[in-house]
Amino acid sequence: MSGMLVRPCPLPEELDLGYLGRLMRANGYHSKNEFAKAMAMHVGMPSRQQRELPVAQLLAMMADQTAEEFAQKHTTQPFRRAITHYYPELMHGSLERLSFAFKSGVKTARDGLYFCPECAEEDVDRHGVSYWRRNIQIPGQVWCASHGAPLFYILAKGGSEQTPLSHLDTAERVSLSLGRAAANNAAVGRYLEVAAGLAERPKPLDVRIASAILKSQARSLGFRTHGGKGSSPLLSDFMVQSFPREWLGTICPDLLNKPVGRHLNKVDGVLHLERGASGAWNYLLAAAVLFPTSEAALNSLTEQSESNRPEPRVKRSSTSAPEDWRILRAYAGSYGDHSNVRHQFKLPRRTAEYHFKKLGLPSLSGANKSGRRQALSALLLEGKSLAESAQLGNMTDSELLALFRECCPNMVSVLQEMANSEAVPQKVGRGMRAVTPGEAEHVGRSEAMAILD
Ligand SMILES: [Zn+2]
Repeated sequence: MSGMLVRPCPLPEELDLGYLGRLMRANGYHSKNEFAKAMAMHVGMPSRQQRELPVAQLLAMMADQTAEEFAQKHTTQPFRRAITHYYPELMHGSLERLSFAFKSGVKTARDGLYFCPECAEEDVDRHGVSYWRRNIQIPGQVWCASHGAPLFYILAKGGSEQTPLSHLDTAERVSLSLGRAAANNAAVGRYLEVAAGLAERPKPLDVRIASAILKSQARSLGFRTHGGKGSSPLLSDFMVQSFPREWLGTICPDLLNKPVGRHLNKVDGVLHLERGASGAWNYLLAAAVLFPTSEAALNSLTEQSESNRPEPRVKRSSTSAPEDWRILRAYAGSYGDHSNVRHQFKLPRRTAEYHFKKLGLPSLSGANKSGRRQALSALLLEGKSLAESAQLGNMTDSELLALFRECCPNMVSVLQEMANSEAVPQKVGRGMRAVTPGEAEHVGRSEAMAILD
């Protein structure tokens, strides 16, 4: 039976690299190169070189999916290429240009692989194995919203060959301060939602169109939209004010060391450079601060792009968002049941989550959540202590505290704004790379400069 391999199906949102690791383990391989040859043999193309038969294509064949389907569901391409000047007409995963498919196929979107141990445990219960999830590998994602806790990560090469839980003892953890700062910041929330929304598209947005849309929005808000001198405010300065500094250091550390008023090409250039100022992330950061909601950003970017280039549209709700008071009433009427409220207004999941977060309305129903209402009522209506309230709701003190924080988004965002406006700009550094959350925690903003490539 030489050449025959065991082929487990990829799991929901399983990252390509993790799927490769799981296939290798299932078939007893330790070397990626050897396994690539074995896969080529298995699919009946043993003589093909990797440049002609990229690993991404082999994995798609092992998964019984088309290369496009596999890229869309299991690779970080839809995030990395969300907005690009490089063959924007090519579908994610397209094999039309093999050299491109070879180079851009199986890759992470940032240094390190991230996981949430509690989600991983749930995957073991549900799927029998913990696995690397693609949707938490977006640069800037440092917090598990489901478990209200910072993510863990590993930097070791080849780490994806083992399961996330097998790294639990040696993995680093994003600091609580960084995790909370990100989780409680509205602009970070919009950034992640825009990234996830664009990743649902089968192909990238053309950078020229995205840039024109961002430029028009920036101009309407009074920002400087050219590379010359001027007195109008810069997008880059606004970003520094809008995002938590420690978090921004994990995506674009150059921003932290930029004097106020100095034009930074890779960021301010997203509004006027033809060929793409830099990675997709800077466009997403810009969209997150220029638009009031992620939905407004997504609608503007995708609708205007589609009208410029006729092609199948990403399905998006055309109904306008319900007013806040209607959501509050429905939430009270359903005793905090998110899915009930969502269905009442026929809201897409992301939109509904955005409204609940903005209004400070955590989910109070579903598995393990029944005590939440009781605990919050004891704390807020009956004046009981934190410990007493937590006990009544069958929760730990820290769980109740985390829940309570979800209820105060306005206070969190004004405090964040106060903290950001106190931050002092540092000297300019060049050749900076993004720091990992661990580095961000240890070096702080003034020493971030020292981390040079
Ligand atoms: Zn989790």
